Amino acid sequence: MVDCVFCRIVAGEIPAAKLIETETVVSFLDIAPVNPGHCLVVPKRHAATLLDLNDEELTDCVLAARRLARAVMEVTGSPGLNLLQNNDRCAGQVVPHVHFHVIPRSPDDGFNFGWRQRRYDEGELEGMRNAISALLT
Ligand code: AMP
Ligand code: ZN
Repeated sequence: MVDCVFCRIVAGEIPAAKLIETETVVSFLDIAPVNPGHCLVVPKRHAATLLDLNDEELTDCVLAARRLARAVMEVTGSPGLNLLQNNDRCAGQVVPHVHFHVIPRSPDDGFNFGWRQRRYDEGELEGMRNAISALLT
């Protein structure tokens, strides 16, 4: 994927502050961090979203994220952490190569998801449960 910025980082064609490199994944510091220490984990193989990862890639990404989390939290003295993963532009995905954000968090750091929570209408929750359950493989 010549046009993909993360493929270029994986290939070493553009610089990045790399942290972990294994057979299947690479991690590096995010160039525009929510908080200092914010890093990304990406599979080496170009895949657009979470749904395109195979089991090994997904496992390796999450294990790398946990490994990073321990070190980043200790280095930054952050008591909290978000593991975030956006899929599709509508969900905030800007770079179309699947990636996991590892974001150290501290009280009052100003990061706000802007969540707007709604309530289910009568019977809607049960209908949703049944519809999802029917498609689980
Ligand atoms: P997302 O909105 O989930 O697609 O996040 C993409 C992330 O990639 C953003 O946090 C960017 O700051 C980060 N990013 C984009 N280009 C680079 C780059 N060359 N090196 C490191 N991080 C990058
Ligand atoms: Zn790519």
